[in-house]
Amino acid sequence: MSHTDLNSPTFSQIADAGKEMHRLMEDLFPICRSITGNGVRETLRRIGQHVPLDVREVPTGTQVFDWVVPNEWNIADAYVSDTKGNRIIDIRKSNLHVVNYSRPIRATVALSELKEHLHTIPEHPDWIPYRTSYYSDNWGFCLSHKQFLELKDEAYQVVIDATLESGHLTYGECYLPGEISDEVLISCHVCHPSLCNDNLSGIAVATFLAKALGSSHRRYSYRFLFVPGTIGPITWLALNAAQVSRIKHGLVLTGVGDSGPFTYKTSRQGNALIDQIMSHTLRHSGKPYSIIEFFPYGYDERQYCSPGFDLSVGCFMRTPHSQYPEYHTSADNLAFVQPDQLGDSLFQCLTALMVLENNRTFLNQNPYGEPQLGKRGLYKQIGGDSDKAKKEMALLWVLNLCDGRHSLFDIAERSGQKFETVHAAAEILVEHGLLKELPGASEVC
Ligand SMILES: [Zn+2]
Repeated sequence: MSHTDLNSPTFSQIADAGKEMHRLMEDLFPICRSITGNGVRETLRRIGQHVPLDVREVPTGTQVFDWVVPNEWNIADAYVSDTKGNRIIDIRKSNLHVVNYSRPIRATVALSELKEHLHTIPEHPDWIPYRTSYYSDNWGFCLSHKQFLELKDEAYQVVIDATLESGHLTYGECYLPGEISDEVLISCHVCHPSLCNDNLSGIAVATFLAKALGSSHRRYSYRFLFVPGTIGPITWLALNAAQVSRIKHGLVLTGVGDSGPFTYKTSRQGNALIDQIMSHTLRHSGKPYSIIEFFPYGYDERQYCSPGFDLSVGCFMRTPHSQYPEYHTSADNLAFVQPDQLGDSLFQCLTALMVLENNRTFLNQNPYGEPQLGKRGLYKQIGGDSDKAKKEMALLWVLNLCDGRHSLFDIAERSGQKFETVHAAAEILVEHGLLKELPGASEVC
């Protein structure tokens, strides 16, 4: 998308982006990702075909605050076979069949012992659960409850052909420099295998957001992080502690592809500019949404909002993870996430970022009484449509509040007008010499 598209992308551009994002998800779906290993590397390689991505490798054993980068996990094969040699639970059919980060094993076990390592969801007997064992030495398989009930009392061969040894933690970083060094952070996790809403939707929207911003003029610098959950942001924060203060605003993107209404979880600060902007843009979106307050659980906002950093980073999603039964199951698949939903989520993010980009502070050049708009042809210039009254009111609000102490966003909030309307009014007034930007005072909130 070009610069002008970013400000007001057309419906068909959003729809096309939705389809492209879904294609990226289809491409990434079969990869067996985890918090480390070749699945993450291959994922980052494919994201790197869309946006410029620096891939970082952090060695196992690296101390990152209270954590240590774990051993790297890679898996070649995993199955359970019956006495006839049939692979009855088979990673080739679904990456979810093996408990992620299982230690390697090759053994023959009785059904009773096997059962201790099996996971199912009795309430959804056709779905395979997603389970992990990152920081405990264990192994296991996941299967549908239906299949579990059919298991016969016999000996089973269990094979997990995996390596869990010293290696690296891998993450990707896409940095887009802007006019100023102040940064906007966009973060998503890249560690789930073959699950779509959590987490391929976040990857897809972040990638296309980076793509859109990459081809446009930027005031802010943008840093996109594609990191494994929890250990990824902790590692990034530990290695970049000296430059964290450049991050002025940020969003964690997750679960942005389901059909539920938008949800925005505020930053720990609760009333940061990004919180206010997300609230404003959702309020004016004409779509159902809810705003929830920060709590120290959920996604990687927990790390960015830990008390030592307390960054202005919120979390943008659709249905929160605890509120849809498909979460962390095989039902969170490519059909669960639809292109239009991805497109709407991307548009919502772009709208909010455009508010940030265009939020400046101006000074009324004719503050003694109202300037005579009629003689400048201003009413005529913007009139003629059904929004005429709103646009005229925006001109008056902008002139009145551009006293150097209110940003355009402040004016939008106080007047109840959409930011774009206020921004457009300011542009017109600048053209007519009635407003001048106050440099360096863009966020007076
Ligand atoms: Zn998850």
